[in-house]
Amino acid sequence: MTTILITNDDGIHSPGLAALEAAMATLGNTVIVAPDRDNSAVSHSLTINRPLKLTRHGVARYDVNGTPADCVVLGLSKVLREPPALVVSGFNLGPNLGDDIAYSGTVSAAVEGTMKGCPSIAFSTEYSTDGWDFDFSMETARRVAARVLERGLPGNTLLNVNIPKGHVNRETRITCQGRRQWEGDILEVSDPRGRIHYWIGGGSPISDRTSGSDVSALEEGFVSITPIHLDHTNHEFLRSFREQWGL
Ligand code: MN
Repeated sequence: MTTILITNDDGIHSPGLAALEAAMATLGNTVIVAPDRDNSAVSHSLTINRPLKLTRHGVARYDVNGTPADCVVLGLSKVLREPPALVVSGFNLGPNLGDDIAYSGTVSAAVEGTMKGCPSIAFSTEYSTDGWDFDFSMETARRVAARVLERGLPGNTLLNVNIPKGHVNRETRITCQGRRQWEGDILEVSDPRGRIHYWIGGGSPISDRTSGSDVSALEEGFVSITPIHLDHTNHEFLRSFREQWGL
């Protein structure tokens, strides 16, 4: 029996989660363990300073008053009796490209699944002016997940999948992680007493023209699939760093 653990970072009520669940239901038995509210940009944080509540909302549907990583930890250790065939996270409402990956709760949930030895995929979808159109995202997720179920993934490796809006050409690019930084992303706001506060999270992305990157693939309207490795070591630098720095 194929069990698929599903989570996200936008929270259990996100339409992206419902769409990913519908897509995965054709491939196996889905189990949802998702945060009870929006946890975007919480990265891989674990809740260790208070107890967590796992609330059942129906058959194979739970929320947690914690982070996406908490959800995967509890899903794997307390909800499921056996390791799932697949851990999927998404559909995030908005792409996770380049530097976004460092902040993304969606991707971090898939990192947690990978750390626990389960094949894991993060799915993010781009907003179109017509709203969230999940049809093409669902079709893509089914295609990618089916292939991972069939072939598995190398150790310590997850897939970061981003689905463009419009999907004019419906093609897929296998990409590397690019750079996506944000300009003007700190808003200055004043509170009722006139004190200045800073609000992070707006702004517009600075384009990364590196060919073969996740950022450029999405800009060109392609689905982007990046194999992400857990090892952050700069292996190219390792040898000269060892031999020449005298540390
Ligand atoms: Mn999110």
